[in-house]
Amino acid sequence: MTETTPLRRRGVMFVLSSPSGAGKSSLARLLLDRERDIKLSISVTTRPRRPSELEGVHYHFVTERQFLAMRDRGDLLEWAEVHGNYYGTPRDPVDEALEDGRDILFDIDWQGTLQLYEACREDVVSVFVLPPSMQELRSRLERRAEDSADVIARRLKNAAQEIVHWNEYDYVLVNDDLQAAFSNMQSILTVERLRRQRRSAVGPFVDALLAEMA
Ligand code: ADP
Ligand code: 5GP
Repeated sequence: MTETTPLRRRGVMFVLSSPSGAGKSSLARLLLDRERDIKLSISVTTRPRRPSELEGVHYHFVTERQFLAMRDRGDLLEWAEVHGNYYGTPRDPVDEALEDGRDILFDIDWQGTLQLYEACREDVVSVFVLPPSMQELRSRLERRAEDSADVIARRLKNAAQEIVHWNEYDYVLVNDDLQAAFSNMQSILTVERLRRQRRSAVGPFVDALLAEMA
């Protein structure tokens, strides 16, 4: 939903985290399909590409050497080692989006979220996605069938270490029914876009309203 009198605002850094398999990529895809004004931050990673993934769409797939060079040049807004691979957020696209008043969606882990809080807390809105049960989490990882058995086992083992960070987030969703979780996530984005602190153009707009009465 958008206002018919658009007022310039600062973009939202919309962060989604969850244990692997809880459904944050599915939720992210729905949001990107339905909402015009939000773009995905495309991370760099040293993880091998999954069969369904495309370079430059889901990730930029890089070597460890390339990753470390980017990190050491300061090109990454945040980075972390997750499940034995490096992941990081390129800085420039984020800066450009925020200045243009466009929202940006991050699918990053809790370590990255804490770094974004340190860099720009007032721009960040964070959502933690929980699975309805650990049994369902396991089934989803198996049904996705894009990782090997040992990678799935490692991700399940790491799930508890991710889940304990739920209380560092602004919002928490249980992804039982995908459409219901999506609808709640969309509501969060809608109200956060309207937050007074993001609406830099309201001051001049109100001045103009008052001037009409003078
Ligand atoms: P993540 O990005 O958190 O690792 P995915 O979005 O890839 O998780 O979801 C993992 C698997 O679970 C996918 O096969 C996806 O289609 C499925 N899935 C996601 N949400 C739901 C849901 N609410 N109910 C049933 N299956 C789901
Ligand atoms: P996957 O390999 O399933 O795509 O992602 C594994 C984990 O890495 C997920 O928790 C995902 O959110 C996280 N991740 C992906 N990109 C980044 C990133 O740029 N930074 C950080 N900190 N985590 C990321």
